[in-house]
Amino acid sequence: VAKKSGRGELRFFNDAMNAAAKDALVIDGALRGAIAGQEFRLVYQAITSAASGAMTKVEALLRWHSATLGNVAPDRFIPVAEDSGMIVEIGSWVLNEACRQLGVWKTGALGELTVSINVSAWQLADPAFVGLVQQALERNGLAPRQLELELTERVLIDNGSQVQSVLAQLRGMGVGISLDDFGTGYSSLSYLTRFHLNTLKIDRAFVMDIEHSERSNNLVHAIIAMGQSLGLQLVAEGVETAGQASILRQLGCHHLQGYHISLPIPADELPGFASRLKAGALPQLAASV
Ligand code: C2E
Ligand code: MG
Ligand code: MG
Ligand code: MG
Repeated sequence: VAKKSGRGELRFFNDAMNAAAKDALVIDGALRGAIAGQEFRLVYQAITSAASGAMTKVEALLRWHSATLGNVAPDRFIPVAEDSGMIVEIGSWVLNEACRQLGVWKTGALGELTVSINVSAWQLADPAFVGLVQQALERNGLAPRQLELELTERVLIDNGSQVQSVLAQLRGMGVGISLDDFGTGYSSLSYLTRFHLNTLKIDRAFVMDIEHSERSNNLVHAIIAMGQSLGLQLVAEGVETAGQASILRQLGCHHLQGYHISLPIPADELPGFASRLKAGALPQLAASV
């Protein structure tokens, strides 16, 4: 698009906007039947203790295979579902499905496990949310400590005082609250004390360069030190190499998550993964999902 006339640029801009709007419209339409059509499923990514290598929890990640569009990545459909408010219904499906799966795992070799789910602003603003969480836990015979909710900084600014009281209720029940993608959003340090958080997830963007960039290394070091002084658990996201894992361990990061340990995998593959991990087998990459 470089060096085009003003009119040409505008034209390009409009076309690009139209394409994006069309894409969103198509996705929006296809999403409407996705729950009823059983087009969603969850995959699970292990989070391990940096010190022992043991699996401490798993993050549930949503996958959508649309009958008309094929596989659509969360980064493409979650924003559309957030715009329309459909995320409330989808998020409630995620909550129930993750808790159902935890209930199944509880009776098998995995035993009691903690699952972390991603929650959008609209869900927290829904007055029914705390009740839905309570029901999902009770129905599946789960302890509240088995559930953790991942929020982004965006959620916290959007609805300050209302969110504060919802999070206080959830923490009061014993549900964990985790701040996702830390460092990429607004990163107001006041969030860390104002909201009832117990975990900080350091965004992949910082972990990525930790081996080669002194700046990233210093930044991650500072985030870990700050988190620790506030009594927060730290999870590094996007750990892809043994070198990154070793640096993070040295810096005192508590938990690791990323392709170096495991890709997100289907629920039925998790018991096998966990037993290979226990047996001390090297972290292996499962088939891509
Ligand atoms: P997130 O919560 O920060 O999840 C981490 C994303 O990074 C996941 O992408 C995961 O597959 C990917 N990832 C994990 N380890 C690595 C790694 O080592 N390297 C790289 N390059 N990537 C890694 P995914 O599954 O595509 O999800 C993208 C985002 O979509 C999530 O980011 C989350 O914000 C959102 N999302 C996913 N599932 C849900 C859901 O059920 N509800 C809501 N509201 N949002 C969701
Ligand atoms: Mg997350
Ligand atoms: Mg994240
Ligand atoms: Mg993210």
